[in-house]
Amino acid sequence: MNFDLTEEQKMIRDMTRDFADEVVAPRAEEMDLTGDYPYDIIEKMAGLGMMGIPFPEEYGGSGGDWISTNLCLEELARGDAAVSALVEVTLVVAEELYTFGSEEQKKRWLTPIAKGERIGAFGLTEPNSGSDAGALRTTAVKDGDAWVLNGAKQFITNIGLDNASLVLVAAQTEKATADGKKKTATFIVPKDTPGFNLGKRYDKMAWKASATHEVILEDCRVPQENLLGDPNRGFSQHLAALQCGRIMIAAMAVGVAQACLDEALRYSKERVQFKQPIFKFQAIQFKLADMAVSIELARNVYLKASWLRDEGRSHTFEATVAKLYATEMLEKVASDAVQIHGGYGYMNEYPVSRFYKGAKLLQIVEGTSEVQRMLLGRMLAAK
Ligand SMILES: Cc1cc2nc3c(=O)[nH]c(=O)nc-3n(C[C@H](O)[C@H](O)[C@H](O)COP(=O)(O)OP(=O)(O)OC[C@H]3O[C@@H](n4cnc5c(N)ncnc54)[C@H](O)[C@@H]3O)c2cc1C
Repeated sequence: MNFDLTEEQKMIRDMTRDFADEVVAPRAEEMDLTGDYPYDIIEKMAGLGMMGIPFPEEYGGSGGDWISTNLCLEELARGDAAVSALVEVTLVVAEELYTFGSEEQKKRWLTPIAKGERIGAFGLTEPNSGSDAGALRTTAVKDGDAWVLNGAKQFITNIGLDNASLVLVAAQTEKATADGKKKTATFIVPKDTPGFNLGKRYDKMAWKASATHEVILEDCRVPQENLLGDPNRGFSQHLAALQCGRIMIAAMAVGVAQACLDEALRYSKERVQFKQPIFKFQAIQFKLADMAVSIELARNVYLKASWLRDEGRSHTFEATVAKLYATEMLEKVASDAVQIHGGYGYMNEYPVSRFYKGAKLLQIVEGTSEVQRMLLGRMLAAK
């Protein structure tokens, strides 16, 4: 086994680390207070090629691999989770366009997204279908050479950004059969389509600079050429794109956890109680040691899943383990980081309070921890 990163992977990790330290982290507190969207940071990330690392250059990408992509997301999340989420969702959308799009669709829709000129959004969740995503109710009815979409999508990341170009919408194309089976297709829905309505902006517990909105489609008419991939497999196409999402969420969790450890370690060496830095107390050192152990394990598992993906090998199990383990690890690490800060950790001016509030979200998005366990249970049952 070879655990060494290539020169290119190291270069991307180090470049993003510097970028996160110099550009992203110094803005994180202010963005979380104001909820202002980071347009200038997006422009810089685009300039550095971060928005399309795993896609070929002919489609605006950097021609890199998933290991580099996920190292980049880890480092961005160490700077600010909301910024890394913006990139992560855009990459899920780009991946779906890349895997299932026609040549024409890739040129038209993927290229500006991979270049970072435009931002993508992913529309699966609805008011009545979250974990049970197959229960979606948005409909698409064929009308001549177009499809007419009606329905609502909720909690849609990125769609509130001015430079968001489209949302990939999964919709039901035929009435469900008696046994509940339905046909779904995925549509490229440009934001400027008549009948596309941007709904309310959600007021979230954390990640304020992430643009989460409701989307309402009212007789939203898109041409046939906006149908993405197989007209009968829209739902499974969405799920396939979320497979790389699971690894990316794991990488982000590792990044935030690393930031928790860095802050807790620094603080424990400065804070003096009982005439010595609290780092000298074994109880504190044990907490820090446990944090380091779980971060190391989570990092290894997301890198293994990324490597399998790059090798074109099956990685469903590893991606699911990575998502579940890393996000649950983060909640514990963030809690311990606050604990090490004592009362100061509860104050908004200390970054660990922000990390703690944001940590919960990664256990929910792109499949909750319960859903990941359910999937793992099914995989075990099939053995
Ligand atoms: C900030 C934010 C951003 C998001 N961005 C996007 C986005 O860009 N695009 C998008 O499509 N969605 C997005 N989502 C939606 C997210 O993916 C869903 O919230 C998530 O999948 C859970 O669905 P739900 O909220 O409806 O919860 P529910 O499915 O109602 O689940 C509620 C609880 O029940 C549990 N549960 C459900 N079913 C089972 C079961 N069979 N067994 C055991 N437990 C179960 C769940 O694990 C959870 O604990 C976002 C959500 C948030 C909060």
